[in-house]
Amino acid sequence: MANRETKIIIAGAGMGGLTAAAGLSSAGFDVTVYEQSSKLGWVGSGLSLMTNALTALASVGIRPRFEGRAEEFESLYFLTKKGRPIRTINFGEITRQIGHPNLAIHRGSLHEALLEQASGCKIELGAAATGFSVDGDKVTLKLADGRTATGDVLIGADGFNSVIRREIAGPENPTDWNYMVWRATPPFRHPKVTKGYVAHYWGRGQRFGLADIGNGNVYWWGTKNMSAEKMRSAPGGKKAIQRYYRGWADEIQAVIAATPEDSISSLPAQDRPFLERWGKGPITLVGDAAHPMLTSLGQGACIAIEDGAVLTHCLSTIDDPQDALRAYEDRRRERARAIVETSRALSRIEQYESPIRSVMRDLYFRFVSERTLTQQNRLVLTFPGVE
Ligand SMILES: Cc1cc2nc3c(=O)[nH]c(=O)nc-3n(C[C@H](O)[C@H](O)[C@H](O)COP(=O)(O)OP(=O)(O)OC[C@H]3O[C@@H](n4cnc5c(N)ncnc54)[C@H](O)[C@@H]3O)c2cc1C
Repeated sequence: MANRETKIIIAGAGMGGLTAAAGLSSAGFDVTVYEQSSKLGWVGSGLSLMTNALTALASVGIRPRFEGRAEEFESLYFLTKKGRPIRTINFGEITRQIGHPNLAIHRGSLHEALLEQASGCKIELGAAATGFSVDGDKVTLKLADGRTATGDVLIGADGFNSVIRREIAGPENPTDWNYMVWRATPPFRHPKVTKGYVAHYWGRGQRFGLADIGNGNVYWWGTKNMSAEKMRSAPGGKKAIQRYYRGWADEIQAVIAATPEDSISSLPAQDRPFLERWGKGPITLVGDAAHPMLTSLGQGACIAIEDGAVLTHCLSTIDDPQDALRAYEDRRRERARAIVETSRALSRIEQYESPIRSVMRDLYFRFVSERTLTQQNRLVLTFPGVE
């Protein structure tokens, strides 16, 4: 089937959906994206957009404009809660070899940059998917307002609570990891927070991240172990967060104090059991819909972008669209599984509550060889390619 005759429907205009939309519309497919939000804009928080995501975009000819929208970073500082060094990871050698930097960026800026690349496709807003039906080789997406859309391929890119995934996998409960995550992106200046500053501070059962995302803004996130019941009853407003981080490094207390309470969002740390089968017939999943993950590696959006790039390549190079979807799933499954599992393992270690375990953790990271760290980072940061 020629590209222009293949009608592709994408549910969800997040990072994975927009990457697929940009790639597939450039390749000549007839692409329509259905997004539940009524406007696309400055929503969400910050992100690390790592070299593997930029490599994936470039591999299918997508070159978003990030100048003035993001801050490059070469080092990630791991610090104690008081701000004393544990270990610094230098990404410079890896990113120079790979040929793309790591960026810290506001999610809204990334969204804007990807949207510019997806200008060749139609995006319908206020269009919430509720399910689909299959008739022969065709798939029909059902929308909450009663409309339907029929095409040759349906890509479920509708994020953590994907309705397309639910129809494929059946009802599931998310897995709760018993800690809370708060995040915000306020304007902030502090002598410690220099250009390209990215630091993770480790306490006991508690962490904090602080990153310069450019234009005078920072991205911060904090975590704290908490039972699911406590999260539901008292997730904690700004006063509670300030209490949790009392005695931590000055820049942490200052950035929380400088953040308007209504701009702090909170969510429980959750993922889902790994899904072996991401699609059937003319349907597949990308990003969080396929493989939601914990945030410890900062790779969820990056892996969603990798998915979008590989899916673009498969649909552009394999004649039968359904064969292309199965090839895409086979090429992505093990990469996604490895990142989901590594995020879980790292999250367990990072959230250690016991004094002995957290001291052992800090000692391990202080003394582990540079070679071991570089090998681990290189695995995560290397886009395995589209083949
Ligand atoms: C605290 C936190 C920190 C993170 N930090 C990082 C990081 O540093 N680096 C990184 O790479 N990742 C990070 N992530 C993960 C990242 O945000 C996600 O993995 C990524 O956004 C997934 O992209 P996606 O396109 O699959 O889903 P999303 O970006 O969630 O997009 C899904 C889209 O689908 C839409 N949608 C939902 N339901 C429907 C429906 N029924 N019909 C139509 N549209 C629908 C939504 O409105 C949304 O636009 C973080 C996540 C969290 C929670």
